[in-house]
Amino acid sequence: MRPRRPHPAGLDVDPYDDDGAFPEFGPDQAPGAVAVRAAVRGKGPVPSAGLATRRQLRALGLSPGGQEPVARLICRGGRRWVWLYEISFARPKRVPTLAQERALDRAMAARQTCPGPCGRRYHHCLPLRTLGTCLECHDGTPATPGTYISPPAAAGHGLAV
Ligand SMILES: [Zn+2]
Repeated sequence: MRPRRPHPAGLDVDPYDDDGAFPEFGPDQAPGAVAVRAAVRGKGPVPSAGLATRRQLRALGLSPGGQEPVARLICRGGRRWVWLYEISFARPKRVPTLAQERALDRAMAARQTCPGPCGRRYHHCLPLRTLGTCLECHDGTPATPGTYISPPAAAGHGLAV
């Protein structure tokens, strides 16, 4: 773990918050915020220093790179906040390999495919832990057409020679 950097000027610590050690910034107040926003919009170079949110880093082709967040960005009048990361510690975003994407698809297929009589793969995850099957196989509630992909015709019906 990297040592936490000294608080940039203008820190605003909330004494009632357990995470009060983190500096907080409003929109455009964090170091480099304006340059980061310009870069995200393609209107400027990617800054080599400053703070950015995870989403901003992703838009710049970067990821936090295992670093701890260093500050919080307060938005929507204080009702929401997001972590801020150091751009200088960010790393290039990892693009998933084809094998990783296949593994992810297999994992999703397992959560979306009904092990019941219908054998359909749905576009949403099924309540497998509670019901064990889709709703239609569980209690006859008809599945909405368009929410599933029909299983391959040859699957398990002995039609394939
Ligand atoms: Zn089913």
